[in-house]
Amino acid sequence: MLAKFLKQHTGPLTADLVQEPGHFGLGKVPRRLKPASTVTSICGYCATGCQLKLHLDEQGRAVNLSPQAGYPVNLGMACPKGWQALDPLDSPDRATVPLLRDESGTLQAVTWADAMGAFTGRLQAIKEQHGRESVAFLSTGQIPFEEMAFLGCLFKFGMGFLHGDANTRQCMATAVTAYKQSFGFDAPPYSYADFEESDVIVLVGSNLCIAHPILWQRVMRNRRNPEIIVIDPRATETAQAATRHVKLQPKGDLALLYTLAHCIIRDGRTDAASIERTEGIEELTEFLMDYSPAAVAPATGLSVEEIEALARTVSEPGKRVSWWWTMGVNQSYEGVRVAQAMINLALITGNIGKPGTGANSITGQCNAMGSRLFSNTTSLVGGHDFANTGHREKVATGLGIPCDAIPSDPSLAYDEILAAAEAGRIKALWVIATNPFHSWIDSGKLAALRENLEFLVVQDMYRTTETALAADLVLPAAAWGEKEGCFINSERRIGTLKAVRRAPGVALSDFRIFRLIAGAWGCGDLFAGWKDPESAFKLLRDLTRDRPCDITGIEGFEMIDRLGGIQWPYPAGSPTVEPALDTERRLFEDGNYYTPSGKARLLFSPPAPLPEAPDSTFPFLLLTGRGTSSQWHTQSRTSKSDILRKLYPHDAYIEIHPDDATRLSLKEHDTVTVRSRRGVMNAAIYIAPTVQPGQLFLPMHYPEVNRLTHPSFDPHSRQPNYKACAVSLTKIRRFAD
Ligand code: SF4
Repeated sequence: MLAKFLKQHTGPLTADLVQEPGHFGLGKVPRRLKPASTVTSICGYCATGCQLKLHLDEQGRAVNLSPQAGYPVNLGMACPKGWQALDPLDSPDRATVPLLRDESGTLQAVTWADAMGAFTGRLQAIKEQHGRESVAFLSTGQIPFEEMAFLGCLFKFGMGFLHGDANTRQCMATAVTAYKQSFGFDAPPYSYADFEESDVIVLVGSNLCIAHPILWQRVMRNRRNPEIIVIDPRATETAQAATRHVKLQPKGDLALLYTLAHCIIRDGRTDAASIERTEGIEELTEFLMDYSPAAVAPATGLSVEEIEALARTVSEPGKRVSWWWTMGVNQSYEGVRVAQAMINLALITGNIGKPGTGANSITGQCNAMGSRLFSNTTSLVGGHDFANTGHREKVATGLGIPCDAIPSDPSLAYDEILAAAEAGRIKALWVIATNPFHSWIDSGKLAALRENLEFLVVQDMYRTTETALAADLVLPAAAWGEKEGCFINSERRIGTLKAVRRAPGVALSDFRIFRLIAGAWGCGDLFAGWKDPESAFKLLRDLTRDRPCDITGIEGFEMIDRLGGIQWPYPAGSPTVEPALDTERRLFEDGNYYTPSGKARLLFSPPAPLPEAPDSTFPFLLLTGRGTSSQWHTQSRTSKSDILRKLYPHDAYIEIHPDDATRLSLKEHDTVTVRSRRGVMNAAIYIAPTVQPGQLFLPMHYPEVNRLTHPSFDPHSRQPNYKACAVSLTKIRRFAD
């Protein structure tokens, strides 16, 4: 049966595939994985990076899982998504064979050989006719970084294209840019242990209870009786559990943070030694003159007394203060400056490089940090710079490729790639493990953009995502649990994942697909050293030498597992840490930053107005965010779990303040039409004082939501502003009303 299937669907490439070590597809028990009772693997959803213990049957197939008790991240805990991590693998809509759209417009099953022929034939023809800027890839934060690096290096150095970006642009670009500008490198400074070491924990635009529930558990383990402050327009689950909710107006955060710095400098509550390690204090002080509490209070919606009290709390002498942010900051038209306003506060009060402190971005996706260091999109692989000649030479030597294969010019960002596709300059897109037809801002535009594309390739574990359904070619990919590699979590900890299931049909790991493409494109020799994920890991490890993310002290996957994950940096010669005790390494303890001067930069600029404020036609401000801890982004995976599906509403719902509901004669469960200048959707009414009057909240997981959102972007990071746009609300009337 299997032999017949392979004969039909694979062609001459099959023999090569089944003999590859480390590949868990096509029906052979992989050599690497011997049947055993359990193996460990990092969860494949969020960037907390919990370790799961996978329970195997005698064939080495995972049949169940439990959280790993000794792992320093999750300490034996997992959220609902982690507990159900195996469920999405069994879904009947898995992509099991390559699919190619025929002349009638129908996707038809083809062999891998035919798929590779179509892939290389179409893309080489487009490149020949339109040049190296006519094709782009859009990738993910969800695959191991060895695969991300392979994709980025193959596409740019092997296939000779220039433009590629990842959906981490939707998630972490703001934090990346803020850190690079302020610290000289994309370096989140903290360890999760800091949640337990703080006296004052300030969460800005972060619904930690829902988005990172295990990190909230770390907060709950804090024995210092901390003040927990949530700065958020909504009374989120986290705000309700905090000791203080600062309920400001949406996008009043930047002005508020500047005002706090104003008060702290005015009152002399600064740390002279820490300021000595910065550049720009005179300019910042001058800038902050205009940000007195009285001047700023109206824009924030807070009283002068509230602002003054908050300023005192976050600068209390002798107290450890930590600042934490997620998407409420990152997904903003001015998120970089908001993040840097927190960095400034940490720097001027001396709350950095010590236990329980820091200006700390909590990452979104399981491997967003891996993408930041290794995807070869914004930065040259291994924490390098495309524009730096020395960096290009170092990477070329390390990878054994010609230096002139490495472009010196930067890639377009995600929004610029899509704009170029809309304008017809980009003719083909290769989308890997992401679903922009659902997740991209103002997503209604994607359908029109599709009309302008000559060729759309989607490489994914499912054939039914909104993006896969629009593809010309679908390449079936193995999922988390069906392949090996490494993720890097929010606190810079590298952990391994394991192959514990066979990929269905002839689906292949993304790593194997990239190897096939390299061979089919004719650049296989350039990637001869990329034999399997661990070989790639070692190549990448060696590239990091002497960079801030130096991990040359890591021998390989076994060492990572043995030590309970390893935080970067871990250069050669690092002292060997005890297993599972490597939990306290934070950056900047010596006051040295990665800038040329060794000092951190204090950066700022005036707040900008909302890109789309409510008006008489669209009188509500729409906020979006995570709905429940059981939902993940576009729900491609979480909707495939019977258990997770029971833990959240099936259809879209919208939160509205009771006063607005009364004014509009809306009752619980009424259906309303939500309309913006770009699109329209229906949702059920959920009346709750969690939102302020004049504001609405929609969970982001429903495909219609991004038809409404406003396509504005942070000018520094190009991250989309998902969180605030103007909408109207109309009740759908029924005869019974
Ligand atoms: S908190 Fe994140 S990493 Fe941990 S189990 Fe849940 S989804 Fe997985």
